[in-house]
Amino acid sequence: MGSHEQPAAVSRRAFAGGSAAFAMSAAVGATVGHRGAAAEGDPLPSWNDGSAKQAILDFVAAVTTEGGSGFVAPSDRIAVFDNDGTLWTEQPVYSQALFAVGEVKRLAPEHPEWVGQEPWDAVISGDPARMSKLSEADIANVLASATTGMTTDQFAENVANWFAVAQHPVQKRPYGQTTYQPQLELLDYLEANGFATWIVSGGGVDFMRVFAEDVYGIPPERVIGSSTAVDWEMTDAGPVLIKQPKLGSYNDKTGKPINIHLAIGKRPIFAFGNSDGDKEMLEYTAAGDGARLMLLVHHDDAAREAAYDRGSHIGGLDAAWDEAVEKGWTVVSMKDDWATIFPG
Ligand SMILES: [Mg+2]
Repeated sequence: MGSHEQPAAVSRRAFAGGSAAFAMSAAVGATVGHRGAAAEGDPLPSWNDGSAKQAILDFVAAVTTEGGSGFVAPSDRIAVFDNDGTLWTEQPVYSQALFAVGEVKRLAPEHPEWVGQEPWDAVISGDPARMSKLSEADIANVLASATTGMTTDQFAENVANWFAVAQHPVQKRPYGQTTYQPQLELLDYLEANGFATWIVSGGGVDFMRVFAEDVYGIPPERVIGSSTAVDWEMTDAGPVLIKQPKLGSYNDKTGKPINIHLAIGKRPIFAFGNSDGDKEMLEYTAAGDGARLMLLVHHDDAAREAAYDRGSHIGGLDAAWDEAVEKGWTVVSMKDDWATIFPG
C-alpha cells in the first residue's frame, strides 16, 4: 500500500461513462487474452489448494447436487463479479481512466480550444505533477469532454480502437491480458456448472460491454455498470443516442444491489468483489436463504501485482474486510491462493 504511483485522483464518478449501444470492432478479438483451459481433473489449476479454493469447490458441489440440502435450480444460480481489482488489475489507476486520458490526447488536435487551457493542458501534457493538482471536478470535465457529446456507437468504436492497441503502463501487456487467470478459470467453472455469471462494476457499462464477451465470455447484456445519461436524437441517418456529460447511474456501494435488482431481478447466490464498493453487494447476496458464497480478493502481492487495502484511494478494502472476517466470508489472498496471476 502506498507504493504505487497514482498520477491523479481520478474517481469513478469522474469517468463513469458509457452508452447504451456497443459496436464490436473486429480488432478487439485479435488482441484479447486467452481464457483458461482447465487441467485434466482440476477445474481451477491456477488456484492453490487451500481454504479459498475448497470453499468454492464445496459450494459448487452443494448447489449442484440434486436432492442435497444445498441444491439450487440452475435458473437461480446467479454469480456476480466486480470488475476492477476482482477480474482485472486496477493499479496504478483504473484502466478506464487511462482510456479517457488517452482520448483527451488523441482528440486534442481537433480541439485547439483545449491547448494551453487548464485543466485540459495539464492532462494533455501527461505530467503527473500537474495532473495531481487538478480537482476531481476539473478531471471529470476534461474526461467528459473527450468521452461524451457523441453517439453511443462512436464511443464504442473509440473504446474498441483503444483496446486493440493500448498497452498497460505497468504490466506492459494489452489490457485484455491484465485479467486474472484464476478468475477466468472460475468464470468457466461456474458456467460449466449451470451458473449465469454477471459483471457488476463501478466502471462504465458501455466501456466494459465492448470487450467483456471476448475477454471474460460474459455477453454485454450481463454487464451492469455505471452509466452516463444519454439523449435520443433523430438524425437524417436515423435515431441515435447521444452521451451526455452527466452521470446516469453510479453503480457502486448501494448502487450495486439496487441495479442487480433492476437488471437481474433475482438475488445472487455468489458474489465476488475486492473493495468497500462491493460491501453492499456481498451483504445483499449473503442475506438470501440457502447456500451462499461471498468472496473478496485481497491484494497482498506486491511482487506479482500490487499490495493495497486499507486507505488506498483505488480499491480501498477496509469495512468490507472487517465484515468478511466477522461473518466468515472468504478472503482470497492473491499471494497465497493464486498460483498464477495473469494469463500466460
Ligand atoms: Mg473492485
